[in-house]
Amino acid sequence: MHRAISAFKLDEHGDWVAFLSCGHKQHVRHQPPFFDRAWVTTEEGRSEKIGAPLNCVKCDQFEMPDDLAAYRKTAEFDEHTLPKSLRSDHSTKPGVWAKIHVTQGKLNYRIAALDAKFELSPSTPGIVIPEIRHHIEPVGPVQFFVEFYKRRDNEQD
Ligand SMILES: [Zn+2]
Repeated sequence: MHRAISAFKLDEHGDWVAFLSCGHKQHVRHQPPFFDRAWVTTEEGRSEKIGAPLNCVKCDQFEMPDDLAAYRKTAEFDEHTLPKSLRSDHSTKPGVWAKIHVTQGKLNYRIAALDAKFELSPSTPGIVIPEIRHHIEPVGPVQFFVEFYKRRDNEQD
């Protein structure tokens, strides 16, 4: 899926890495004739690409970035206390990932935009991708909570 470029940094080999709004990183090398990205070699070229979309395969695969830290947890909800806001489509902010932990029972997790549906259980947590609208539905008796993650150096809440 497309993610906005938020910054560029050089890696230890002198190759440019794009930091994406989702928290993933991706090399953007200028290696003609395979990768023709002359723009990445200039400050001006890079600054013009801030905010531009890049395809993020790791988001497509529900792969959480490895440098995230948990920073907030909801209360434990059941099928009666499940907030209405979670039953209708909603999303997290840029860079904010979440895990839906079912401690008892089952929960349906639907992501309309990706045409995806998961049945969550204590052995199958749900991964919430930043900015992707989704909702949950109880299947029967259930207990669950949601834990939120972001990059350690990410100032936005
Ligand atoms: Zn991503």
